[in-house]
Amino acid sequence: MVTTGKLFVVSGPSGAGKGTLLARVLSAADNFALTVSATTRKPRKGEKDGVQYYFLSEEKFDELIRDDRLLEWASVHGAYYGTLKSEVKRHLAAGLNVVLEIDLQGARQIRAKMPEAVLIFIMPPSIEVLRSRLEKRGTESSEQITRRLETARLEIQSADEFDTVIVNDDLAVALAQLLQFVHSMHDTVTG
Ligand code: 5GP
Repeated sequence: MVTTGKLFVVSGPSGAGKGTLLARVLSAADNFALTVSATTRKPRKGEKDGVQYYFLSEEKFDELIRDDRLLEWASVHGAYYGTLKSEVKRHLAAGLNVVLEIDLQGARQIRAKMPEAVLIFIMPPSIEVLRSRLEKRGTESSEQITRRLETARLEIQSADEFDTVIVNDDLAVALAQLLQFVHSMHDTVTG
């Protein structure tokens, strides 16, 4: 049987633990690849161009939109973020399952364009836990945290648009649920 990679979209509020969970999934399953998005956000301390993101000027980002090189894009918390078509194609061509870690607006665009994509929502146990995680992370100002919590409330209301919702209270439990889900989805493709 010919196997092709599947497209997974992972969304959820900032601070829900998407990054940590995905890093674990990627180290537990070698046939999954995470795409590197383009953004106009400034790099945080320790972030490198081409690793966490391709950090671009607004002019360069506009050029990507104009040249139709983005599969989806959105303005999130005052910056632009987008998935490069080339990144997705490269991984799918290598037979890998592709994981996009993108916001709700991007997830909706993927659902419309590629109905076969699998949408996963990572849910924080509560807004209070989210607030304390963002404060502990210390990468955003209190103004930015307030903005992210406002977005989080809206995102949580849309969780039922996703194929599955994983509540990230206990990391080990959430990881086990996520792995089980992606493997069950993957099995439906590879038989
Ligand atoms: P951060 O700045 O914390 O890395 O990411 C902020 C938000 O942007 C997160 O919700 C993240 O999922 C989203 N994001 C990252 N890359 C993309 C992308 O390529 N497209 C879209 N639509 N959202 C993205």
